[in-house]
Amino acid sequence: MNGVMAALRAEVVIDLDNLRHNVSLLAGLAPRAETMAVVKADGYGHGAVEVARAALESGASWIGACSLGEALALREAGITAPVLAWLDLPGTDYAPGVAARVDLSVSSARQLAEVAEAARAVGVEARVHLKIDTGLSRNGCRPEEWSALVEKAAATPEVRVHAVWTHLACADEVGHPATDAQAERFDDAYREAVAAGLSPLRHVANSAALLTRPDLHFDLVRPGIAVYGLNPVPQPFDLRPVMTFRSSVALTKRIPAGESVSYGLSWTAGAPTTLALVPVGYGDGVPRTLSHRMHVWLAGRRRPVVGRVCMDQVVVDCGDDVVAEGDEVVLFGTGERGEPTAREWADLAGTIDYEIVTGMHRPRVTRTYR
Ligand SMILES: *Cc1c(COP(=O)(O)O)cnc(C)c1O
Repeated sequence: MNGVMAALRAEVVIDLDNLRHNVSLLAGLAPRAETMAVVKADGYGHGAVEVARAALESGASWIGACSLGEALALREAGITAPVLAWLDLPGTDYAPGVAARVDLSVSSARQLAEVAEAARAVGVEARVHLKIDTGLSRNGCRPEEWSALVEKAAATPEVRVHAVWTHLACADEVGHPATDAQAERFDDAYREAVAAGLSPLRHVANSAALLTRPDLHFDLVRPGIAVYGLNPVPQPFDLRPVMTFRSSVALTKRIPAGESVSYGLSWTAGAPTTLALVPVGYGDGVPRTLSHRMHVWLAGRRRPVVGRVCMDQVVVDCGDDVVAEGDEVVLFGTGERGEPTAREWADLAGTIDYEIVTGMHRPRVTRTYR
């Protein structure tokens, strides 16, 4: 244990068994669809390559990336499964992506032309997924321009349209009418693609829709957050959080009543107490807005962080309990032992757990795999 203490300054431990459990649960919930594990933003902070490998071992057959660069990094790591990349800038050279058999999302005629040009240059047919904007107003082709796009795609010999797809705005708000409205627009878009002579697959569902809208599973589901064991919907599912964030006590001290703690001296001890200094702060990904709100798991129970969260450190009030320098501190984990969870942090910070786990700062926070 002592030998690894230095590495525990700030560490996320990634439990790939939990991840495999989650992927197989999700794949089982969408039995007629294939499963694409979404690993954008370095696997939501869990490590894209490790996550992709574990997901492919446990029921996923596709990997989703945001940029072509993310997709190519997976290929370079030896991942041969289908990978879809969906967001790049005008002027992107798609040739390496086409050569590496990365599936490319196309949202406009301009982008279609760029992909076709890359395919011509490489001498390989590009496999594309035409994206329809059914109401999120982010990426994707507006319905007004859709028929022109599908016709152009059908007439472009360098590309093969493998799928049509869209992304939902409100799937995490179960029963939200926007989801049905988006599903209707998607159906129209699919029919237009078929009318243009295409026979594409369809995919729509993120984690929330996978969990709550089996009617939207179609041929492929695209879970992200649920792969990491975080549940975006109110209904319970046996998802197991994959990331634990931990550190160690750097220093303990006894202070008398009346002494205050951290910048601004915003917390004052009402009685003599033992403080434990933990060397993580907002420079590691602990939101400063958790000052005076967060707890950690230390020496067998939850204990409050007192005073402000600093860049490099937080201070934990341990009362009269015995805590030792070097003791493990769990900042957030699965919650099984009573420790805080990423969800608890998100609720306290007024954000979503996606942002918490994705926001662990490398290289200060090291990552290890279990
Ligand atoms: C991030 C993302 C997903 C996964 O969303 P979750 O809510 O994390 O399941 C699916 N599809 C697209 C296009 C995405 O950007």
